[in-house]
Amino acid sequence: MKITVFGSGYVGLVTGACLAEVGNQVLCMDVDQCKIDQLKQGIIPIYEPGLDEMVKDNVAAGRLSFTTDVKEAVDFGLFQFIAVGTPPDEDGSADLKYVLAVAKSIAEHMTDYKIVVDKSTVPVGTADKVKQAIKDVLAERGQDLEFDVVSNPEFLKEGSALDDFMKPDRIIIGTDNPRTAELLKALYAPFNRSRERVITMDIRSAELTKYAANAMLATKISFMNELANLAERLGADIENVRHGIGSDSRIGYSFIYPGCGYGGSCFPKDVKALERTARDYGYQAELLSAVENVNDRQKHRLFEKISTHYPNGVKGKTFALWGLAFKPNTDDMREAPSRVLLEALIDAGATVRAYDPEAMEEAHRIYGDKAGLVYCAKQADTLNDVDALIIVTEWKQFRSPDFDDLGRLLKDKVIFDGRNMYEPRLVKQFGLQYYAIGR
Ligand code: NAD
Repeated sequence: MKITVFGSGYVGLVTGACLAEVGNQVLCMDVDQCKIDQLKQGIIPIYEPGLDEMVKDNVAAGRLSFTTDVKEAVDFGLFQFIAVGTPPDEDGSADLKYVLAVAKSIAEHMTDYKIVVDKSTVPVGTADKVKQAIKDVLAERGQDLEFDVVSNPEFLKEGSALDDFMKPDRIIIGTDNPRTAELLKALYAPFNRSRERVITMDIRSAELTKYAANAMLATKISFMNELANLAERLGADIENVRHGIGSDSRIGYSFIYPGCGYGGSCFPKDVKALERTARDYGYQAELLSAVENVNDRQKHRLFEKISTHYPNGVKGKTFALWGLAFKPNTDDMREAPSRVLLEALIDAGATVRAYDPEAMEEAHRIYGDKAGLVYCAKQADTLNDVDALIIVTEWKQFRSPDFDDLGRLLKDKVIFDGRNMYEPRLVKQFGLQYYAIGR
């Protein structure tokens, strides 16, 4: 099948590569000339395990190509995937300007039937807006062409995006046209072999399903962070509590890790957008507001702990910071807790020696030559002449450090761990003070 994908970011590029991998012809279109130039030269602008190889293989096989030419893109595919960003607007609602711009582009150039598939995360009612935008432009062109708009939200996780796309838990297809549903099912058949994963439903329910999933996951995290803060006050260990409740199959172990808050391009913006949608429809979503507030507060917890440890302030102190990405296996720093922390430390007069296995380039892009921030090429470099260590992202390589070395190198002999990576008793054996979350 022939597929066009608008937007070559985390979702668009993975979608394009995976659809090409199973034999389709895919053209990825992006307005970012630099990104498309890089892709054409075989440079993958984001870090996602396995993506580099998959893109190169499919380009070499002639199934995957890139363009900035809108007309070429619209002409190319029967399926026109929209995978552009939907960042938060000033009022928290999802900004649809990129989605609607693509809809208009499709309408301006289409000459035959198209299936417009929305993969971006968009508020309920967006498919209607996309439909209307296309209709308006077609009317201006004096054309009466047929098209369908489908909601097909994406559930991939950065860091395991290829696996998630190739072996999805579910494939949601929201459409009011049974014939289009069949075409989409055929497109997804290669990813739907071992068991039935396709769930078809009406468009509005499909749009809401994506927000419901993200809001539920964010709620689990904020719930655990709330209890972690309480555990600290009660003299309990949240890690014991986590084991205790996770063993209940109704609760389960996934997504109940306490920490220094969730980040990324999805949870923060999607919780906000859903809350905003609720308000627009005259409903006060109390739980969603609380989830967001707890998370905002949680991102400051490490700094609070550091400030308690250093009652005279951190001016002149130097901290090793392990982890910048919002989670392991990605270079994405959007809304990352590391940013709140490092900015607070630097504002308070400290120096931060930062290292992340994949996000160094992204950190450079965001912070440039920011005073007080030292970019370290290696994890070990962060420990040169430092007072304390802070861990913000739970990369595997941080799991088992040489505590003897840490005991020797950290001048103030203290670790602040925002991800509960270590056993407190073990760390203390090395003469180190250890602050974690909820223990
Ligand atoms: P991204 O910012 O990485 O990529 C978006 C891309 O769209 C950019 O390259 C941008 O240049 C391009 N773009 C903007 N306007 C365009 C236009 N008119 N035509 C063509 N390209 C255009 O975003 P992302 O993380 O891939 O997210 C895309 C959507 O998918 C969002 O709605 C997001 O909420 C949703 N989503 C993201 C994830 C994730 O883990 N990142 C997971 C599921 C869903």
